[in-house]
Amino acid sequence: MGTWKSRRIEWKRKAREFGLAAKALASTSHPISAHVIPIRRCNLACKYCNEFDETSPPVPTAEMLRRIEWLADLGLSALTFSGGEPLLHPDLDQLMLRVRERGMMAGVITNGLLLNEQRIERLNSAGLDYLQISIDNVQPDEVSLKSLKTLDSRLVMLAQHAEFHVNINSVLGSGVKNPQDALTIAYRAIELGFTSTVGIIHDGTGQLKPLRPEELEVFDKIKSLNKSHYSALNGFQENIAHGRPNEWRCRSGARYLYICEDGLVHYCSQQRGYPGVPLLDYGVEDIRREFRTEKPCAPNCTVSCAHQTAIMDYWRVPQTLRAFSHHRPRSTPQAQPDGSDVLVQVE
Ligand code: SF4
Ligand code: SF4
Repeated sequence: MGTWKSRRIEWKRKAREFGLAAKALASTSHPISAHVIPIRRCNLACKYCNEFDETSPPVPTAEMLRRIEWLADLGLSALTFSGGEPLLHPDLDQLMLRVRERGMMAGVITNGLLLNEQRIERLNSAGLDYLQISIDNVQPDEVSLKSLKTLDSRLVMLAQHAEFHVNINSVLGSGVKNPQDALTIAYRAIELGFTSTVGIIHDGTGQLKPLRPEELEVFDKIKSLNKSHYSALNGFQENIAHGRPNEWRCRSGARYLYICEDGLVHYCSQQRGYPGVPLLDYGVEDIRREFRTEKPCAPNCTVSCAHQTAIMDYWRVPQTLRAFSHHRPRSTPQAQPDGSDVLVQVE
């Protein structure tokens, strides 16, 4: 994106972001960011993933529109479609248009395989603001086909046609065979004019493990490629990379929401079932309660969207409430006095 038109779109987007950030600072009674699942199905089957299936149908468009309206009425600032693979939803453009009509930022997280020139132009017309692709390796392997080799031609198309911001995420940590791949992916992203981030993945036990020395070296190099993007999250990422717990207050359920295909509100993709309330019943009281609810999984959390939204409220209100699933009758809370069995990783 180097044309006058694309720069104008970028400035307008930044102005809208600025306005929404001011709104987020002014009040804590509305959500800032939500990930919404329009379809659980995916056209890939990455070995490490617990967020997809191979069969489920798209959420009906009318139902998705109701959810978008409700989130807008709650005062949401930014809505990101995730999955599964959200581009498999037949009416995704219509859903994005509605997000933009209601004054929210519109984002999508995709594996990128369904992108072509025409699809990118449709996303431009729908008013998409951000697109993120996570690339796992340089060459496809038995764990993941999300490789630079498979996706590079789509990245070139994005560089030529996308009017939205593109971020390429690479990964380091457990199960990643070659850490140098993350660096190759990040260099290519920057070369094409995108931003680049790196995610650190766990071994599935929920424990933080420090990155190995060669991984840390790659991590530092990627950070230096895109300093501005990392500045706000530096502390969180640094601690995760070194295997140190973070001291922070997770405001999921209040400032960050994860809405599954069944229309339930969850803390995040890794804590599905909490609070487990249908979105169309979710109100300001739920937001206020969850704002004050402590999440015992916070120290070892790697969910960067939750970190990002929590920064807004870093200095605010301590959390004194215990987390439990409201999906069950409220008279039978799941929390135990020592908090040891609250919040479990779902599936
Ligand atoms: S592309 Fe994404 S949603 Fe699909 S299987 Fe891989 S990680 Fe999961
Ligand atoms: S894993 Fe826990 S701390 Fe992290 S976003 Fe989810 S609920 Fe919050």
